[in-house]
Amino acid sequence: MLRTIDLRTPDPDAPAGRRHAGWRAYTDVVPRAEFDVEAAVEVVRPVVEDVRVRGEEAVREYSARFDGVEQDTVAVPAEALTAALEALDPAVRAGLEESVRRLRATCEAELEADTATDLAAGARVAKRMVPMDRVGLYVPGGIAPLVSSVVMNVVPAQVAGVGSIALTSSPQKAHGGLPHPTILAACALLGVDEVYAAGGAQAIAMLAYGAGPCAPVDLVTGPGAIYTVAAKRLLNGQGVVGIDSEAGPTEIAILADETADPAFVAADLLSQAEHDPMAGSVLVTDSPQLADDVVAELDKQVAATRHVERVRTALTGPQSGVVLVRDLDQGVDVVNAYAAEHLEIQTRDASSYAARIVNAGAVFVGGFAPVSLGDYCAGSNHVLPTGGCACHSSGLSVRAFLRAVHVVEYSRDALAEVADHVVALAEAEDLPGHGAAVSLEVPVALNVNENPYAPSPGCVADIAAAVAQAATTLNRYPDRELTDLREALAAYLTRESGVAVEPAQVWAANGSNEVMLQLLQAFGGPGRTAVSFAPTYSMYPEYARDSVTGWVAGRRREDFSFDLDHAESLVEEHRPSVVLLPSPNNPTGTALPPEVVSPLATMLRQNGGGVLVVDEAYAEFRRSGVPSALELLDDHPNLVVTRTMSKAFALAGGRLGYLAASPAITDALRVVRLPYHLSSVSQATALAALGHADELLGAVAELRRGRDDLVRHLREEGYEVAESDANFVLFGRFEDRHAVWQGLLERGVLIRETGPDGWLRVSVGTPAEMDAFTAALAAVRENAMVRTPQGADR
Ligand SMILES: *Cc1c(COP(=O)(O)O)cnc(C)c1O
Repeated sequence: MLRTIDLRTPDPDAPAGRRHAGWRAYTDVVPRAEFDVEAAVEVVRPVVEDVRVRGEEAVREYSARFDGVEQDTVAVPAEALTAALEALDPAVRAGLEESVRRLRATCEAELEADTATDLAAGARVAKRMVPMDRVGLYVPGGIAPLVSSVVMNVVPAQVAGVGSIALTSSPQKAHGGLPHPTILAACALLGVDEVYAAGGAQAIAMLAYGAGPCAPVDLVTGPGAIYTVAAKRLLNGQGVVGIDSEAGPTEIAILADETADPAFVAADLLSQAEHDPMAGSVLVTDSPQLADDVVAELDKQVAATRHVERVRTALTGPQSGVVLVRDLDQGVDVVNAYAAEHLEIQTRDASSYAARIVNAGAVFVGGFAPVSLGDYCAGSNHVLPTGGCACHSSGLSVRAFLRAVHVVEYSRDALAEVADHVVALAEAEDLPGHGAAVSLEVPVALNVNENPYAPSPGCVADIAAAVAQAATTLNRYPDRELTDLREALAAYLTRESGVAVEPAQVWAANGSNEVMLQLLQAFGGPGRTAVSFAPTYSMYPEYARDSVTGWVAGRRREDFSFDLDHAESLVEEHRPSVVLLPSPNNPTGTALPPEVVSPLATMLRQNGGGVLVVDEAYAEFRRSGVPSALELLDDHPNLVVTRTMSKAFALAGGRLGYLAASPAITDALRVVRLPYHLSSVSQATALAALGHADELLGAVAELRRGRDDLVRHLREEGYEVAESDANFVLFGRFEDRHAVWQGLLERGVLIRETGPDGWLRVSVGTPAEMDAFTAALAAVRENAMVRTPQGADR
């Protein structure tokens, strides 16, 4: 009855050069049902489409055509469910109850717990298991009324916590157009009250699209005949609905040796064949004797079975057979290649062979775990992958009704920690937008003392025109003497400070940072020393390092005021070549009084002739009555006043800084600057912006007012605030300034954690930004994250 495939002769050739042969060498030789789902998809496509368009009406028409029933509605009435349960044979009911109890226990044990993984401080990924909202369960009712399939679908869905369950099974002519009463009874037993009488492709389409009383579901599960499977594949492929694995005709493989009982083996092969004429029954054995005995047993048992024709068709089809192997090792490869829906191991030492199985829907070990046990009452699920799909899919379980959702929570700091990696990977994938998304953008950025007002449209147009003009000569090097620009800058300085400044006194570079670096290159160097007085601008030691100049950090008094005596002793001791002094100072914001600049310049001249650089990056913001060091230029040939267009001029992106000093000093810078250091585009941009000086500086008056208001407000709130001649304010003091900084950031305001401990620096922005800042600061204080500032109760 069963055909024989003899694999005891040498192994089939693996395709030349293919890696990972092993069981894969046998995938083409094992018996396999012909189950052409793709062809069936074309058959069901119009049915599915019809249900999508016409809904319940179409479903009922197909029920009339395929199942021979006339229905008023596809919904099964509640009374039919109750009546079916009342009429249920008590033995069947007891069997169902035990089946439910066991399956529920395994489902509960298999429920995955939520997890949370901390990857770093403030970096957590949690996994939350979320049940499906609504599922549709398909229970075949065609050849055999598979009441057990109700249990196998419903129990895991219920244990998973699915919100709503719809179950459908094909209408039976013999039962008044309703599904088989045992199926209805099982639904009632399990408390499933939304049941439909629809089968085949039209039922799957009804669940997926919704039709009449049936709302659409998110997932369809359950076995079925080929058209059901085809409809699931079609609708899943179209993205309409999720499905469990595709179940084709049922199948069994039995790996057995001479210790197996031929009667048991034959009975199990037969019981599978009983499901369906297309069912596969495969025996893999190293014992020709057992093979003969099993075939003899089958002849006997088939003759006595109820569904003889069905069984005979199944056993004689190409999907069934005996595979003879040399030994059980080869047998293990063969059954792994077959990837059976159900695999029985009936050998000596069955557990150890079972442990070597990698592909199977379910494995039944030893002589007392027949597949029929698994079909009903083992506590395992019998909805299993068929047709070799077990090499990539699992059987139905509580997992099918849940989704694992990753919940990613990162703090700002945690994101910052990993941002570089994200950017690098995004660049590698040529998705720069992904990288940009992790750069920290804060609604209110008050951290780098930028001017919050962008250039006006008129200014933008002039800059664009000037750059366009410059572009016409970009084949030539720029004017290395910066003639026009120095003239315009000299005119501007003269106007701004009232001190006559000549173009020959002016020098410019890419930002005042470069101007100062050039000063260090010209006047510092190995064996020489540069000095500044902390707290001050953090870039100064960098210039010293870059120019290999020694660095000496003096200090200011506790109240940040300049200590001329301390400076004098430092100057006498170190005879510095360069002294760097910002005025207004950064981060304190306070300008130096002329009583400091003049004596210091003199002191330097008397102690080796070093230059005094007064960094007036914020000069335009100084309070009225505070003089610029430009006024002292004539008295001190060793005095340099640097300025920038980055702050007051709102041109931080233009990178233009400059200085005024004696022509001897500008000459010295010509020696160290790189050739053509300032591009013609930069020169053109700066010149065009200088043409709008009045307009650009108009915002300065507004920012100064905002600054004064801010100082007043913070003092009223009890904070200590340094006097500010700049567009920023240093305030404190906090026991934990970082907590305050962080609290502000969490409220969308980024300021600067800089300067002496306990202090924070905030730039002056637009009135709206300042409102956001003061509100956030109040909230942070409110939140008691911050102790009362030390100054508050004095
Ligand atoms: C912002 C700032 C500068 C300006 O630097 P640029 O290179 O001109 O942008 C210079 N000095 C101090 C103290 C500053 O805070």
